[in-house]
Amino acid sequence: MKTEFSPAQLANPDIAEADKILRACVHCGFCTATCPTYVLLGDELDSPRGRIYLIKEMLEKDRPPTREVVKHIDRCLSCLACMTTCPSGVHYMHLVDQARVRIEKEYARPLTERLLRSVLAWVLPRPGLFRLSMILARLARPLAGLLPAPKAATASPSLLRRIKAMLALAPGSLPASGPAGGSVFPALGNRRGRVALLQGCAQQVLAPRINQAAINLLTRHGIEVVLVKDEQCCGALTHHLGRDDDALARARANIAVWLKEAEGNGLDAILVTASGCATVIKDYGFMLREDRDFAAAAARISALAKDITEYLGSIELQPAQQQSDLVIAYHSACSLQHGQKITHAPKELLSKNGFVVKDVPESHLCCGSAGTYNILQPDIANRLRDRKVANIAKVKPDMIAAGNIGCMVQIAGGTSVPVVHTVELLDWATGGPRPGLN
Ligand code: SF4
Ligand code: SF4
Repeated sequence: MKTEFSPAQLANPDIAEADKILRACVHCGFCTATCPTYVLLGDELDSPRGRIYLIKEMLEKDRPPTREVVKHIDRCLSCLACMTTCPSGVHYMHLVDQARVRIEKEYARPLTERLLRSVLAWVLPRPGLFRLSMILARLARPLAGLLPAPKAATASPSLLRRIKAMLALAPGSLPASGPAGGSVFPALGNRRGRVALLQGCAQQVLAPRINQAAINLLTRHGIEVVLVKDEQCCGALTHHLGRDDDALARARANIAVWLKEAEGNGLDAILVTASGCATVIKDYGFMLREDRDFAAAAARISALAKDITEYLGSIELQPAQQQSDLVIAYHSACSLQHGQKITHAPKELLSKNGFVVKDVPESHLCCGSAGTYNILQPDIANRLRDRKVANIAKVKPDMIAAGNIGCMVQIAGGTSVPVVHTVELLDWATGGPRPGLN
């Protein structure tokens, strides 16, 4: 694609990056076929190619974002299916991230929308506040029936509609908190390695059993696990809301504490059980590339970050202790398959450990979770969830496995089949408790 940025514009490293990305696009439109919003809405401006044009216009003409641009960028899930499909290697993620930052800085959203986004950005990365909000949401749930019912996808769902979506996501009860930051779990037997495990924010409130399963599994296999003290939310939630100052501050804080741990007692990897978080941590190196104080450290941390299944695939797991004939529908989270290009490792691990693993039809399509998307765009998100659940039902599973808490909550909202994390099944197969009691 031809671009017309001025030399002055290209002096800005973000614009130079956008220019490089835009020039790689050859307008072929292959990406439209796998874009969930284009598949549902059929509007070219809700396709990757359409959004790329909108972003190009906005950046090239150095115009403030228009209502139309914001509508179509807000509808993008950042699922990155377009990046998997694109034959030209267009880095759509870095382009849309940049567009979201510009929208956040320059577009005056209606007051209620600004308030909602501020509340989400403030509450979700803070486990204490998130826990409190879940308790309040549970108490308010009986009122949800009085709020407007889902409609066809609207440009800007009302605040009440979004509050209804939030209430629907609140669980019936909350488990006790997991172990605190600073905890160390020694390897059982000979120590083969030492890793940090990201504590996460929403996940540690909704499902601390996931990291517990990871700790059990790793220590059983001779890996010492540390929950690094003073670690924060990885920044993914605010990053996807376009609030980069917050996301970068969190990235810098995490880099500092992880680096201290790596240089102190040593770390072979920083493991993540929520694939949405790992995708962003692996991008810290890019996000901080212009920061003289942090660029090198950020690149080092990104290289240490691994999805848990990526790491488990690199160590020899004990033979499965029981042969299960359970059929597992494997839901491939977008952040895992498109964001990190991890497609086979989780399924291979499950198969090797005695499970009958089935791929879900249309597995490239997002379930509609996408960070805060299922709150901000509940109508599109619900349609995607219903489509995902219908596809999962076709393989008649006993359980559904996924590697991302957002997907697990989203899918569980539409099915009675137990939804578990891949690592819970692997822990069970190698001697841990049976999962699926959610
Ligand atoms: S990230 Fe997903 S929703 Fe957004 S343009 Fe790409 S395929 Fe479509
Ligand atoms: S598939 Fe890639 S090159 Fe083709 S239109 Fe989409 S982004 Fe551009």
